[in-house]
Amino acid sequence: MPWTTANQRPTRHHLRHSFLILCCTLVLIVAGCGGGEARTSDGDRASNESPLTAGAVTLSPSHGSIHGGNIVMLGLPGSRNDLAGMEVEAQFGAAPGVPCEFDEAAGQFACRAPAHPDPVTVDVAVRADGRDVTGAVPYTYTTVGYGDMPVVTLDLSAIQRRATVISDDYPSDVKMGVVLKNGEPVGAMGKAIADAVHVDYFFVPKLSDAVSLREAGVTTPIVIMYLTDPADIPLLLRYDLETAATSAAWVERANQILEPTGSQLRVHLWIDTGFGREGVLPDEALPLAKAIDDSPHLKLQGIASHLCCVESTDLEALAANDLTTLTVLQKSRFDEAVAQIRGAGIGQDALLHIGASDVLANDLDSLYYDMLRVGGMYFVSRPDTPLYSWTARIDQVKTLPAGWCIDYGCETTTTEATKVGLVSHIPLRDGVIAFIVRGQQAPVLLNHSTVVTLDLSAIPDAAEGDEVTIQFNPENGQLLDTTLPVPVTLGAG
Ligand SMILES: *Cc1c(COP(=O)(O)O)cnc(C)c1O
Repeated sequence: MPWTTANQRPTRHHLRHSFLILCCTLVLIVAGCGGGEARTSDGDRASNESPLTAGAVTLSPSHGSIHGGNIVMLGLPGSRNDLAGMEVEAQFGAAPGVPCEFDEAAGQFACRAPAHPDPVTVDVAVRADGRDVTGAVPYTYTTVGYGDMPVVTLDLSAIQRRATVISDDYPSDVKMGVVLKNGEPVGAMGKAIADAVHVDYFFVPKLSDAVSLREAGVTTPIVIMYLTDPADIPLLLRYDLETAATSAAWVERANQILEPTGSQLRVHLWIDTGFGREGVLPDEALPLAKAIDDSPHLKLQGIASHLCCVESTDLEALAANDLTTLTVLQKSRFDEAVAQIRGAGIGQDALLHIGASDVLANDLDSLYYDMLRVGGMYFVSRPDTPLYSWTARIDQVKTLPAGWCIDYGCETTTTEATKVGLVSHIPLRDGVIAFIVRGQQAPVLLNHSTVVTLDLSAIPDAAEGDEVTIQFNPENGQLLDTTLPVPVTLGAG
């Protein structure tokens, strides 16, 4: 019956209009008939008897991206008629207040959240008709993720403590390279680590990560690993960034772009010693080094590679120079390429780096060279030293009968009546994500990301609304992965 709604609206407007006229008339009568005292006491009563008391203010949603621009519905106590005529303003943290507009359908106010520099929780102060509404409501700013997904709360001080532990045990004659590829907020994570320990280099997968670090105030040298489009070189120069030189064609393009700038770009010659990813094959390393050395616009800052298959047994394999192992084979290819380059009088002071967390964890000191690029070790969230908290709720609970289809194609059916719980908007990750309900891990029956069906048969007490703790793949130490689309905020994990 859409007509009912359509007809009601003018009526409601009409009533409010009449109400306003009545009020104005009353004000005129008071102003005309009463003295100054009458007005004062009237005004006092109005503020004392304000229906807008603490705790009754609501925000939905109560979190959103740092970019702002999204509508947040603000609920205030009081009758619709009182509220509809109010002038309401919401102040998100220290940002200037934004005007909120009464929404007829919701009976609440619609406020457009302003942008905020950091993904943190702020207090929202509300003013209604020029008066402060007592009690502030929290609103959580997150990185740019999907607002519908449960928010990961990252504990930067825990990450700093981890950095200190790694740093305390780190070989003193090796430069500390920290790899940040665990997602957002890259700038805040890098700044926190740089504030806690000495970092010689940051390594990031992409240009925007490097820019975030600089914008967060990180002054440490930064290398963009992998592949960089030479067209981005002007931005690299602006932010004083280094990158990988990965082919002869790349060097040629880089030269063309650098020529008119008169600037010099520091590059790391990347060699693919047997991983199948970025870099030139060992045979092409010397010609590439020569091309870099010939260019007045490029400085050979480093020579790098990445290992595919480090194992705990590599300590002995390296000692025995056992070329049948992949690590020793990769090392020998790297050493040979470096010897050729240096034999040609190039790159004597270039930093050599090939090792990551696994090299450090296994004390493979013959792979330390000048610097290690350590990533995972910083971001493994152990139960005794968690780095994040991440929770969702069970949105629905039901018991599926025996023989019930699970998923399209019905390739799986329940073998017996099975209690299940549904959670929603969970990002798809490479590794398994674990769901813990009432202290127990609930197996995943179906994962469509938007809806995940959990098997609750071993957790008979589980109920709708229960908190679900989500963990990144426990098999690789709950390695933090807050890459998009996960929304992240900063707080105590
Ligand atoms: C990921 C990565 C690292 C860091 O590896 P971890 O195992 O996370 O320490 C170092 N170098 C490159 C090229 C990488 O891709």
